[in-house]
Amino acid sequence: MISVTEARDLLFGLAARLPSEEVPLAQAAGRVLAAPVTAKRDQPPFSASSMDGYAVKSAEVELHAMFKVIGETAAGHGFSGRCGAGQAVRIFTGAPMPEGADFVVIQEDVSRTGDLITITSDPGPKSNVRPLGVDFTEGTTVAAPRLLRPEDIALLAAMNVARVPVVRKPVVALMSTGDELVMPGDTPGPDQIIASNTFGLQALLQAHGADCRVLPIARDTLSSLRMGFELAAGADLVITIGGASVGDHDLVGEVAAGLGMDRAFYKVRMRPGKPLMAGRLGDAAMVGLPGNPVSAMVCGYIFILPMIRAMLGLGAEAPAQMTATLAADIGKNGPREHYMRASVENGQLTVAGDQDSSLLSILAQSNALLVRAPDDPPRTAGEDVRYVPI
Ligand code: AMP
Ligand code: MG
Repeated sequence: MISVTEARDLLFGLAARLPSEEVPLAQAAGRVLAAPVTAKRDQPPFSASSMDGYAVKSAEVELHAMFKVIGETAAGHGFSGRCGAGQAVRIFTGAPMPEGADFVVIQEDVSRTGDLITITSDPGPKSNVRPLGVDFTEGTTVAAPRLLRPEDIALLAAMNVARVPVVRKPVVALMSTGDELVMPGDTPGPDQIIASNTFGLQALLQAHGADCRVLPIARDTLSSLRMGFELAAGADLVITIGGASVGDHDLVGEVAAGLGMDRAFYKVRMRPGKPLMAGRLGDAAMVGLPGNPVSAMVCGYIFILPMIRAMLGLGAEAPAQMTATLAADIGKNGPREHYMRASVENGQLTVAGDQDSSLLSILAQSNALLVRAPDDPPRTAGEDVRYVPI
């Protein structure tokens, strides 16, 4: 059996970065910038007032100085004249500075009578002028790859980048397998349960940039599984859930092999998630996840999310780990790397009492997976431990 790290490296080998496409700016949030983009203009494109007040010459600014107001300029409405000696132009935030003026006395520091203003409070040294290009200049670059946040979208808009090169979303086909499964909303028979894994994984992967297709549930027959794989055609990543162990009804490996899957590995030295299978199936990567709901979700965090990130060009890295203080003693770990459901609150990590891999309710209450190395010795309260946030 291979280690978690070896398995993830093999998975990265199946997860090539996807090609780019161009999308309108309004659809670029949450996407990964595929190539550097460059500002097409200076911002601001002119020196501009940052306050409401009066534009004057800085050399003339002093307490009690008087000016004649010769015109007005507001955002979107420049002043075509020139501000000469002893003159002021009424100005509002965002308006271009009139030629000849380099200082804005804020309106609170001025008293006005007709066309005459007097500076009545010391305006101080701050000019209240935003220089041309102070935010960015033409040619300023946003580097790629970059996961585009709302702030980035605002910046790209200001740069007049209306269409954005992004990495194509990985298309992921998710197939639950099992005679016992029905879809949420359906009426299960007395010996049936509801398929949950596909939906949890869909939510997880979609939140991280994948485009998921939940396929109809495949039954535990060769023909139904084959049809499932047919329906997955065109996906970049085909994920099956369940049917990957060695029971009589675990047929996923057999069907995938029959369809020509080039197997990269089967079984990983981890808990939960041991019967993990992966390989290349035509143009797609194929991963067979274990059916137990917690195993499937843990494998989603530990293996599938890193694959999605790699496909998006965000690098081939293990999930980020954080440190917390163990709240209570825990016993030694077995020979497999163990991802234990846990809760972290105020830096204190509490391990859930029951780690059975069928217990979704405990997973849903957890916000951390404590990472325990194979054969990790007992740990005592107060020790620092590593976990993957979920
Ligand atoms: P299997 O790997 O097919 O033997 O499944 C292991 C356990 O996980 C069984 O109890 C299945 O009923 C359950 N299971 C498999 N697939 C799913 C699924 N998609 N949603 C919820 N439970 C599942
Ligand atoms: Mg099954």
